[in-house]
Amino acid sequence: MQDNFGRTIDYLRISVTDRCNFRCTYCMPEQQTFLPRTELLDYTEIALIAARFIKHGIRKIRLTGGEPLARRDVDVLIQELGRHVQSGALDELTLTTNGSRLALFAPILKESGVRRINVSLDSLVPARFNAVTRGGDLGQVLDGIAAAKRSGLAIRINMVALKGVNDDEILPMAEYCATNGFDLALIETMPLGDGVSGRTGQFIPLDKFIEPLRKTGAITPLNHRTAGPARYFCVESIGLRLGLITPMTHNFCGDCNRLRLTSDGKVHMCLGSDFHVDFRDA
Ligand code: SAM
Ligand code: SF4
Repeated sequence: MQDNFGRTIDYLRISVTDRCNFRCTYCMPEQQTFLPRTELLDYTEIALIAARFIKHGIRKIRLTGGEPLARRDVDVLIQELGRHVQSGALDELTLTTNGSRLALFAPILKESGVRRINVSLDSLVPARFNAVTRGGDLGQVLDGIAAAKRSGLAIRINMVALKGVNDDEILPMAEYCATNGFDLALIETMPLGDGVSGRTGQFIPLDKFIEPLRKTGAITPLNHRTAGPARYFCVESIGLRLGLITPMTHNFCGDCNRLRLTSDGKVHMCLGSDFHVDFRDA
């Protein structure tokens, strides 16, 4: 598939649910209203849409949310989509998770053909993690990450850069990732989502966020690419692969290769636009 700007579209992000067991301050308000369950696509519908998109050239699928591992029986969907990896029709099936249910799901992910996952982790300080996620248990997430590592999944930690919240944690987080053999992706906070306030004050450009890391030695660009918008670097002092996702300071729309399927069946080209096509009705 090619769009009107000549961009090849081969990546589909599927939001399995809009619900989440966390309420990260930059993502959702504390009192979030979710879609009625009857409006969600069921797993058969998601699998059907995915199969059709694969026929049209989608090579990578990422499950996301909300929290994808929080939807009941999601292993059924993961196993179904995993068949396309096993048949070679899909290059990659992956997911982004908050990690809270990873201890349970890591072996299932691995068996279903998932090779790498992204886990969101904004702080290694328990009280701070609990405050940012409004209730998350850091120990549970770290246990989940350890289980994923034991299962042989490659892991990238996603850390949203938040001024005054975690901008003193870049060094410990980099060290934690390097020691465990994980990649680390830093994300600039984006003004997305309804009812979330205070983000403008928490915005910090990644150039500034990684200053303490620069002081440890060279950060050299790598050719490594994943399906997403991260630019990768090597932090030589600790041998860390570092991804920078900079929607605000380095726009990456020209390289966009993705479609997004919402949990109620709408296909969007862009998170920044409301334009969509409703596949549930179809
Ligand atoms: N619940 C899963 C998780 O947290 O990983 C998957 C869904 S979450 C919406 C996907 C990613 O978006 C996470 O890495 C999260 O940190 C990031 N994210 C959410 N709101 C954001 C915002 N306003 N700016 C930047 N990144 C954001
Ligand atoms: Fe949930 Fe992920 Fe949003 Fe946090 S970032 S509230 S874990 S969907």
